[in-house]
Amino acid sequence: MLSKLIPEKKIENLGKKGIPYGISEEGSLVERASWRTFKPVTDYTKCIKCGMCWLHCPDAAYTVGKDGFPECDSKTCKGCLICVGVCPVKCIKAEQERGVAKK
Ligand code: SF4
Ligand code: SF4
Repeated sequence: MLSKLIPEKKIENLGKKGIPYGISEEGSLVERASWRTFKPVTDYTKCIKCGMCWLHCPDAAYTVGKDGFPECDSKTCKGCLICVGVCPVKCIKAEQERGVAKK
């Protein structure tokens, strides 16, 4: 089904869980992290390993490590901060990326 919706040449650009990468006008891959202004930072001392961040991340940026804690791939995360909102114990904080001008 997916192959019928996406032109064949675009299939090469699918990342984890079939989520496509952005393609620049020059044809190169665009990392989502390049437009991120905030990033999620997890306090693992409070994490209860519920998996809600992993489940709700629209870009499949989280994987679950052998110890059961979620790990965020900084190259995949685009900084939407949905994971911050769904964490039941509020142990994920939004941290501003360096180099981003404050108002
Ligand atoms: S900020 Fe958004 S893209 Fe990044 S890990 Fe959280 S839910 Fe996923
Ligand atoms: S949603 Fe919060 S408590 Fe649950 S696994 Fe993610 S970081 Fe840990």
